[in-house]
Amino acid sequence: MDERFFDSMLDEIYSAFQRQRPTRGTPAYRSLWRRVCEERAVPNEAAKAIAYALTDRDSLPLNLGKAILAEFENWLADHPQRRAKATACRDCDPAIPGFFWVWDATGYRMLCKCACNQDRRLENMQAWTRRQAQEAGLLLTDPGVEPAPRTLPPPARKALGHTEPPRRDHVAQREYSNAGGW
Ligand SMILES: [Zn+2]
Repeated sequence: MDERFFDSMLDEIYSAFQRQRPTRGTPAYRSLWRRVCEERAVPNEAAKAIAYALTDRDSLPLNLGKAILAEFENWLADHPQRRAKATACRDCDPAIPGFFWVWDATGYRMLCKCACNQDRRLENMQAWTRRQAQEAGLLLTDPGVEPAPRTLPPPARKALGHTEPPRRDHVAQREYSNAGGW
């Protein structure tokens, strides 16, 4: 769902209960957006039906994200031909569902666990959306440069006067592994 559809869906729901919808950029808005548009990828075409079902309730659900996803399930039940399309994650690499590739500026390629990945064995691995990876400075396409060497070759180190032992971790890779703390 794009932001225009998402906003008008929220407008419709909130105004039915004489409430102001959260504005873009606020934590409440971002959390709804993440749940509905990134983790679940609810399509534009479901927005009207979801808004209609929710405005028909007696009160605004306390957990609106959950209520929207429940109404989306109802919509899918009514539109079985849409289910396959709607459940395919747009972020994942089609060849490796649950993951996608990112690159750092030096051409180093890393596999990201996608936010849609429900594999319990990977619970401790940081999950990403493509947008989050981009915001963290990673690239979604190969920058087309030769991957930088992990450490300088010994003659180059000597020429530059480096004396400390070579680091085994690459800076970008280390930052990436800490990304959960950002
Ligand atoms: Zn995914």
